[in-house]
Amino acid sequence: MSRNPRYDVLFEPVKIGPKLAKNRFFQVPHASGMTNAAPHVRAAFRETKAEGGWAVVCTGACSIHPSSDDSPFPCATIWDDADIRSHAVMTEAVHRHGALAGIELWHGGAAAVNRTSRYTPLSPSGVPWMATHVGFMSSSRPKIMDKSDIKDLITWHRDAAVRAERAGFDILYVYSGMGYLPYQFLLSDYNQRTDEYGGSVRNRVRLTEELIDAVREATGGRCAVALRISMQELRARPSENAPSEAHEVIGYLKDAPDLFDVKMDYSATDCAASRYTPEGSHEPVIDFIKKITSKPVVGVGRFTSPDTMVGQIRRGILDFIGGARPSIADPFLPNKINEGREADIRECIGCNICISSWHDGVWVRCTQNPTAGEEWRRGWHPEKVRKDSEESVLVVGGGPAGLEAALTLARRGFTVSVAEKQRSFGGRLLWETALPGLKAWYRVAEYRLGQLRQMPNVSLFPESDLSAEDVLAFGAGHVVVATGAKWLKVLCGANELPGGTVTGPRVYTPDDLKASVLPEGPVAVFDYDNYYLGTAIAEDLAAKGCAVTYITTAGAASAWTFMTNEQPLIHQALARRGIGYRTLETVTGFDGERLKLAQIFSGEAHEIAVRSLVIVGQRLGGSPLYDALQASDWQAAGIKSIGLAGDAHAPGAIAHAVYHGHKTARELGLAAEAIHIGRDAPFAPRDFLPLQAAQ
Ligand code: ADP
Ligand code: SF4
Repeated sequence: MSRNPRYDVLFEPVKIGPKLAKNRFFQVPHASGMTNAAPHVRAAFRETKAEGGWAVVCTGACSIHPSSDDSPFPCATIWDDADIRSHAVMTEAVHRHGALAGIELWHGGAAAVNRTSRYTPLSPSGVPWMATHVGFMSSSRPKIMDKSDIKDLITWHRDAAVRAERAGFDILYVYSGMGYLPYQFLLSDYNQRTDEYGGSVRNRVRLTEELIDAVREATGGRCAVALRISMQELRARPSENAPSEAHEVIGYLKDAPDLFDVKMDYSATDCAASRYTPEGSHEPVIDFIKKITSKPVVGVGRFTSPDTMVGQIRRGILDFIGGARPSIADPFLPNKINEGREADIRECIGCNICISSWHDGVWVRCTQNPTAGEEWRRGWHPEKVRKDSEESVLVVGGGPAGLEAALTLARRGFTVSVAEKQRSFGGRLLWETALPGLKAWYRVAEYRLGQLRQMPNVSLFPESDLSAEDVLAFGAGHVVVATGAKWLKVLCGANELPGGTVTGPRVYTPDDLKASVLPEGPVAVFDYDNYYLGTAIAEDLAAKGCAVTYITTAGAASAWTFMTNEQPLIHQALARRGIGYRTLETVTGFDGERLKLAQIFSGEAHEIAVRSLVIVGQRLGGSPLYDALQASDWQAAGIKSIGLAGDAHAPGAIAHAVYHGHKTARELGLAAEAIHIGRDAPFAPRDFLPLQAAQ
């Protein structure tokens, strides 16, 4: 297929200072959880995007000095020459595909409290970063930087730039955003200095300007210098000299970098989840940049639609289509557009599981792309699967796990049949994505069904509720059971122990609601699952006119969603919909009228009047079908293997089901020795010595 001429503009080359990007697809710096400790894992992850057509591929934040140590969060470093080799593996991999490699030189200032290095955190005026994430909080307070600290900071950037060029990077970032040190100089709330670095906007910009100059001088103009800058707060502040402080800042800096990478200030708005934020949400904040500067501008917005991308270019908002999440969900997004295969794009669903990986301190995971982070360790490619079988397989269950298993097995060459009890495929997605804000998550089923329907070796059987006898009679060589999990009516106790069951009337689980039960109000939603579903159900019931009280054992609604940047927006939504919420409480009983509650630490008892209780707590895997098959003489029916996949194997988030479906399919029929799992290791400092000697 050939490219739709409407998208030609996306494939124009664009100059970035001394470098030329081959098209407008720019993988902006984003966290991957991959530090210098796993150089090959990191290189393969980034290389896949270069292979998939991104013209620029960047690292995530890369600390320039031990005084910017982000532990316990995964933190890449370019602290000394010993770090060069690790990065060089990535730049070489990216260059192999004709892409430019960028590095985000990073100093966190007060936002990096140096838990491991034990350096004193630095800040313009001693104001700590006002962390609301528990994981970021610290009792350590930053030092007020004096002139020699500022000089050091400039020197560290210069030295890091020299090392970055030696590591092979083409584009070097100065990072004045997201609460980090140069950003703190830009904002008057953090910067209360009275010297030439504080006070007026002109003075507050000075540090960023000097950092750009230092990085440029360090590489003698051979590398491009990019500025990443957050605009949300500055745009909201009036200026005497311009429409806003943001306009004034960009006015002073308009000729300084070779590229502007513009973004929001906070995780919840910058990498906003789709539950509350649509594609292209940054535009109202960053739409003015190109009117002030002639330098190219890159920005993000979870862009997956080529028409939206073209709109951004044509309307003069952006020169480059920035992608972090869309490049994780589909590293081959540019190539697919280039080849006229838009329908094959695996669109990011905006769930932010990828971001939770960084908060968890592990390599990136993605709901849509189960191969993300596994390119080197398991040798999984997002587009290519070794074609190695002509056997047949029956997949029972057409949810995320079943569909992913079916697709990967079909790519391996199996003749695949998928049997699904319901009229439509999608499993849990069918109902969950009808809840407020979750529509985009249906893309998980949509993408896979779109692919499966094009494959000649795949048959889809809806409305097929299979028994063990049906499966045995079907005649498939292999069987994968992906029949999902069920929610339980069990409670949660105190002291991290499970509770008992509730026997009162009108007690429901999500499975009941899925079967179209509308509980009689007022309703209590008791959530100790603590991810999205409890509050999504509360929102849905409120939208349907029920009076809802949300109760959780945790300290906040949907407590785990601080990992996915959704928590602030969920609380705003509960307030908007008039949903009352009670935290740190557990349900101890319900008689159909009075709901008994206990404070989880003190045991203090409360009662509230409700007519129905929805428990979003525990899910149980396993499958009666699988058990019945195991108990049968399945070998006699010609079946070589029976596997259990996804939530039936072990319940989890959609990302877990997709991953497990993929893994099941990759490994089906393989001997244990044929399954390769690589173990990466950092380069020891001594490994760098020959390179150093060569200088
Ligand atoms: P997962 O997340 O693991 O994919 P889901 O619960 O989303 O799990 O999907 C499981 C699917 O399996 C559901 O669509 C359900 O209707 C289907 N299913 C369950 N039992 C059977 C069965 N015996 N025959 C066919 N389909 C089944
Ligand atoms: Fe998109 Fe979710 Fe994948 Fe992140 S984890 S890239 S938000 S689909």
